[in-house]
Amino acid sequence: MLLAYQPPPTGRQVWMEPYFNFGGRNFFNPFPDGFSKIMLIKDHGRIFDLKVPKTIKFVYVCGKGLSLFANKRFKEGDKIIYLKGKLIDINKVNPSPETIQISDNKFLDSRDYVPEDFISHSCVPNAKFDLVKRQVIAIKNISKNEEITFNYLTTEWDMKKWGTDFKCICGSKNCFGHINGFKYLSRAEKLKLKPLLSPLLLKKIS
Ligand SMILES: [Zn+2]
Repeated sequence: MLLAYQPPPTGRQVWMEPYFNFGGRNFFNPFPDGFSKIMLIKDHGRIFDLKVPKTIKFVYVCGKGLSLFANKRFKEGDKIIYLKGKLIDINKVNPSPETIQISDNKFLDSRDYVPEDFISHSCVPNAKFDLVKRQVIAIKNISKNEEITFNYLTTEWDMKKWGTDFKCICGSKNCFGHINGFKYLSRAEKLKLKPLLSPLLLKKIS
């Protein structure tokens, strides 16, 4: 997965154009309709071509980086995108900001960069990850041009351990502050997230 509030995982990006204001925040939008394809140059010059379905798009958000936005209306319960990637074993590879925790030892890794890597964290998200069906699902109605977000604390047990923790700046009233992983939440906070939790984290609270 998954970029928190930090610059995109790139050495260089091939875009940059006028910026626009949306919902009181400043965005860079390289193409009028967002962009459906980008090229990232990273990891010793390796090139990743990122294509996204017409239903979503990338928008460059100032101070935050490249983020995934809705390019159509999604209704609560709609599938937004499939989760790709391959399973890795943490005994062999360390988790990174682009991995999603599946079990104590297994993570879904998408290091070749896929659109869902750019779904940012929010403590009040509009989407959740269904790790059984491997889908990103809308948990509220999402309008066109709205950012798609999910709460990393609903899949990740211990981000501190892997150095993927970060300070959240989502600005919501119920912000969790520093995002360290589900393990570090109070019992009350854990229970509040119950409807959104991955099977692994559900097991941890039962
Ligand atoms: Zn927050």
